[in-house]
Amino acid sequence: MTTGVRSTCPYCGVGCGIVATPDGKGGAAVEGDHDHPANQGRLCSKGAALGETLSLEDRLLHPEIDGQRVSWEVALDTVAEGLRQTIEAHGPEAVAFYVSGQLLTEDYYAANKLIKGFLGTANIDTNSRLCMASSVAGHKRAFGSDTVPGLYEDFERADLVVLVGSNLAWCHPVLFQRLEAARRVRPSMKVVVVDPRRTETCDIADLHLALKPGSDVALFNVLLASLAERGMADRRFVEQHTSGLGDALDAARATDAAACGLPPADLATFLDLFARTEKVVTLYSQGVNQSSAGVDKVNALINCHLLTGRIGRPGMGPFSITGQPNAMGGREVGALSNALAAHMDFGPVEIDRVARFWGAPHMATKPGLKAVDLFEAVRAGRIKAVWIMATNPVASLPDADAVREALRGCELSIVSEAIRASDTVDTCRIRLPALAWAEKDGTVTNSERGISRQRPFLPPPGEAKQDWWILAEVARRLGHGEAFAWRGVADIFREHAALSGFENAGTRDFDIGACASIDDAAYQALQPFVWGRAADRRFFGDGAFFHADRRARFIATMPRAPVNAPDEERPLILNTGRVRDQWHTMTRTGKSVRLAGHRPEPMIEVHPRDASVRGLVDGDIAEVRSGWGRGVLRVHVTDSVSLGQAFAPMHWTAQLSRAGRINAAVNPAVDPLSGQPELKHTPVEIRRVDMHWHGTILARRPIMLPEISYWVRIRGAGYHAYVVAGDQPFAVAQRTLSAAVRTTNPGPWLDGDNGVGAVVSDGRVEAVMALGSTYQADARDRFAPFMALNRLTTEQRDALLHGGTDMHRGGELCACFGISCGAVEAAIADGATSLAAIGATTQAGTNCGSCRPEIRALLRAARHVRAA
Ligand code: SF4
Repeated sequence: MTTGVRSTCPYCGVGCGIVATPDGKGGAAVEGDHDHPANQGRLCSKGAALGETLSLEDRLLHPEIDGQRVSWEVALDTVAEGLRQTIEAHGPEAVAFYVSGQLLTEDYYAANKLIKGFLGTANIDTNSRLCMASSVAGHKRAFGSDTVPGLYEDFERADLVVLVGSNLAWCHPVLFQRLEAARRVRPSMKVVVVDPRRTETCDIADLHLALKPGSDVALFNVLLASLAERGMADRRFVEQHTSGLGDALDAARATDAAACGLPPADLATFLDLFARTEKVVTLYSQGVNQSSAGVDKVNALINCHLLTGRIGRPGMGPFSITGQPNAMGGREVGALSNALAAHMDFGPVEIDRVARFWGAPHMATKPGLKAVDLFEAVRAGRIKAVWIMATNPVASLPDADAVREALRGCELSIVSEAIRASDTVDTCRIRLPALAWAEKDGTVTNSERGISRQRPFLPPPGEAKQDWWILAEVARRLGHGEAFAWRGVADIFREHAALSGFENAGTRDFDIGACASIDDAAYQALQPFVWGRAADRRFFGDGAFFHADRRARFIATMPRAPVNAPDEERPLILNTGRVRDQWHTMTRTGKSVRLAGHRPEPMIEVHPRDASVRGLVDGDIAEVRSGWGRGVLRVHVTDSVSLGQAFAPMHWTAQLSRAGRINAAVNPAVDPLSGQPELKHTPVEIRRVDMHWHGTILARRPIMLPEISYWVRIRGAGYHAYVVAGDQPFAVAQRTLSAAVRTTNPGPWLDGDNGVGAVVSDGRVEAVMALGSTYQADARDRFAPFMALNRLTTEQRDALLHGGTDMHRGGELCACFGISCGAVEAAIADGATSLAAIGATTQAGTNCGSCRPEIRALLRAARHVRAA
């Protein structure tokens, strides 16, 4: 019998259930909830490390204005008065909110209600615009509503799973594990990965289609034409439940398969497989959505499911996986600027309906600005007051330096945040302390429409408040207290549920009206549930869509090139994404020591031939420059990216690195319909940055680095690690860096061999620094064991000053047990030939399973070497 608190993981859109058991000292043990339908006890490496992210270090605990602590009364009065004056002077369109898929549904609902119903503008957008806005627009075009038709179990029941633009293994690991497990039970299941990169997800693929970036519409057009030609259309379904096939087929038949750049045999295999398999799920994610043709890509793949009638039945259908934990909740409350609440749009009847339900005096009557345009309006001075909640646009939006400039110039910049410092918090005048994940109360919705409770298990720290309370207090000061007089989150949930059922009568997909009358105890005890219409909770198996004529629409899509094409000056295509163990801008995962080991530095992956012509080798530092900005990153040479392409993760910020904030270089082109930015296609050039010296510093207390060309800050166990490099003379670097180290880590300085120096006080290492002419990737691992010792023996001190231990760990592979690549390779060299054997000897891969694809890759590499 579990005694912990049941809640939901705050990271990705899988929405895994967790059980948290507080330790009474501000921390908690976190494990997977075996009763939660999304994960059935599983967690990935990020979820498994949640317990390490709960400290109050780095938290914003009191309201601040212009860097000065103020009372809540002063902060709320200032925010309300600022909004009131802005609206009086410039009208409601001069105000904007930028919110987040990290908000709980109740917080989201409050923000949307305040701005759209009571301030009179729809200038509210969510960072989910960056993740799934193209899916929303594609769903609406095809289905007449933003409806995800299927369920997670459909992946397990499918005979063919096509993963498009999705590195499921790293970005939605628990779904990947479910897919892996289903395949073990039913080996006949086929998996096709469609992705320009060879990602870890390819580990289970029968076929990897490394199509040309941006050619997804061409691929699915070719598939549509091929299915029609083979007579695979479900004629009854098409005739009775759809319209527009003729135009879509004309466009498809006019598409040249060569545009995809695929080997003809691979393409033929895919076309055959799709045609002859009834139970197909096409699962797609950011690789489809984050594109200037994202909506067309979504519709091109939906067209294939409509033609074959493979939708809304067990084991088949298109399936959009969201990135954020509550992106779907944001869609339900209408927190996108072009949506109203409860899956309604800006039609006159719907505007009137929502206004009557809310008793709204100043109802917005037209869509507001989408994220990229919203911050451009801030920069241009058209928006004069912006309130950002629980997100970090200065790091996560494209052309991120322009966003920072916009915020710096904004008359009234407000941020509600849990953390004390971020690239965005640092630029905002008014800072409101918000509760964090472990303290918040409410609900979230995952990618399969599953609503789960998020329950607090730690007390509110300092003066932090939940977002809905902050919004309601501002509303009250603006004279709207009655409409925001909620006693708690259950009141908001009931109101949200009631609106979903208000004048619905089956015309809208989202209807949880039955929850409008639950009492507080029932809300508290609410079990996870998936909302849906049919008895099996799927949509569209009956052919009833949400356009006025109840028919789905085929959309004629024509391939079009990305907005910004590579040229002679910037010939490489930069793709951005995520790594396995980090989440978004690392404000939470960055606190975990064990998550820091897998990919400790911001990096750029480059194909060996592209590297060679630029004189780049693995471990170099390179500048990535586009027409918008630059980043400076560690080079990783790999053929997992194709020739002419490069990949960089988006997690690093100015808090954690000198210039690893890659979104500063990403182009701000957007899809014309969805407004979703093209985060995966920026023309860039990459050049080697000559560094005169490289180094690693481990220090018990943080150090203030002098001005140097490259630095990355990494969390260590009881210490701070810095990887540094520069173009100053070596002697200057040695002098200034050792002075910086000793300023905050005082004690006797001991000089060792080969550029090693250390502060050792009372026999304990306070700091160690190693500088040299070459990059030593393992330096942090060689010195880390000494930081765990309270007193060095003479031998240990000598070993430290000679360069540390000789452990060549080669990066952390298994975050759960801290097992390195080197340890796994050693197990393979000692005869381990399977995942199970490696698990038995090293423990790697035996807990959350997130590292299993990488272990299998090492096994395959070893087999190749043996065979050669
Ligand atoms: Fe959290 Fe991982 Fe589950 Fe996503 S897959 S919800 S990150 S535990």
